Amino acid sequence: MRHIAIIGSGPAGYYTAEALAKAMGNEVRVDIIDRLPVPYGLIRFGVAPDHQSIKAVSRRYEGVALSDNVRFVGNVTVGKDVSIPELQQLYDAVVVATGAPLDRPVDIPGAELSGVVGSAAFVGWYNGHPDFADLAPPLDGTSAAIIGNGNVALDVARILSKTRAEFEASDIVGHALAALEDSAIRHVTVLGRRGPHQIAMTPKELGELGHLERAFPRVDPLDLPPQADDALLEPGMRKSVTHLRAFAAHPVAKPVTIDFDFFAMPIAVLPSETDPARAGRLIVERTRLDEQLRSVATGEQYEIEASLIVSCIGYETPPIDGVPYEHGRGRFANIDGRILPGLYCVGWARRGPTGTIGTNRPDGYEVAEQVVADIADGKARDGREGLDRLLAERDVEVVTFRDWQRIEAAEIANARTGAPREKFTDIEAMLAALRPSG
Ligand code: NAP
Repeated sequence: MRHIAIIGSGPAGYYTAEALAKAMGNEVRVDIIDRLPVPYGLIRFGVAPDHQSIKAVSRRYEGVALSDNVRFVGNVTVGKDVSIPELQQLYDAVVVATGAPLDRPVDIPGAELSGVVGSAAFVGWYNGHPDFADLAPPLDGTSAAIIGNGNVALDVARILSKTRAEFEASDIVGHALAALEDSAIRHVTVLGRRGPHQIAMTPKELGELGHLERAFPRVDPLDLPPQADDALLEPGMRKSVTHLRAFAAHPVAKPVTIDFDFFAMPIAVLPSETDPARAGRLIVERTRLDEQLRSVATGEQYEIEASLIVSCIGYETPPIDGVPYEHGRGRFANIDGRILPGLYCVGWARRGPTGTIGTNRPDGYEVAEQVVADIADGKARDGREGLDRLLAERDVEVVTFRDWQRIEAAEIANARTGAPREKFTDIEAMLAALRPSG
């Protein structure tokens, strides 16, 4: 019998478990350890709450989780309840699938002002992540700015612009829904430091902005390159740019505007005139592209009003003591998923924060193949029995997959009309749902 621990129960963790179970059948026991009592990582806390069809992939992971040789070990923090060296003693292989939950910092003067938030925090807030449930982003001003031209920027722009009715079939948490319903924001500016041909937005997500009830995207036609140049783009990108052209050609007057400001690089946040601790304006520098399509400052500056500034400029994997890390790329140093003998990484912890949920499937299968090859002649390990013993000695309240299903049932029972669930937003409430009175 071989024993494998996977740290992190998001898409990368589950696809790796699925691949290991397929490759080794009854010869393997896989433990998926998560610091939260609830599984699915990015699916639960990162994917937008109004994108339920993407979230539905968790049903596939459920099939993996309920198989005999894979187990969810929730509410266990690696680094506190158990260490990586201890896991390496207990298991033939340890796979780090912790994703990239940290915001890449927006390194400009004034970024410390209240009202400047990273997308991990903002997205975590509306998705009910226990770390960010108390964020309370300021929504009392009329203008917000979003830094970045990727899909997360689109998610944030859309969530800030939707009406309550548009969230009906979503699992947005109650505190965020109530705050957004009261929001005074009527102008959202999405800032891209490069141009329309350099966006990292996929067509479906961009197209959605054209169908919002009370908001409409605006693009300055002068920012668009000559239409003939679109032929040089790969098909998906060409489709995205076609959406931008349509937004530019057919502006619609609606109460909320989403302005795409291209060739625009934020360089400083200024405090509000009424409260020096809060953000009030953003100084932006006009850019142009150099021959390598990098953004270059032109020296021309202007200001935009923004009491909420959400930076959506990518994520980083948290380093772990003793585990080699590639600082420039915000991920573990690895070759094909191998970090050190017996220690592997998958998903965003391996590649950095790129690709869709589906990209993690081939990624997980590839790393699982390396693991299977490497551990063929391992010595006998204690595996899950050893982990259970150690966690019991330390009084850790482990949450199983069956426990999670009870938490989920309580969330479904608490759902508002039309919504799939009302998520618990703190760990205590999740655990309380497991107690007889819960
Ligand atoms: P992303 O796709 O890497 O986009 C980051 C954006 O931030 C880019 O436009 C980048 O511009 C810009 N940027 C980076 N550093 C900057 C700086 N210092 N100042 C100004 N702008 C800066 O990242 P993401 O939007 O966080 O998305 C992460 C991954 O999740 C992506 O693979 C994305 O497709 C995926 N995702 C998918 C969905 C979906 O499918 N529905 C939803 C959300 C996220 P440059 O190009 O100039 O560097």
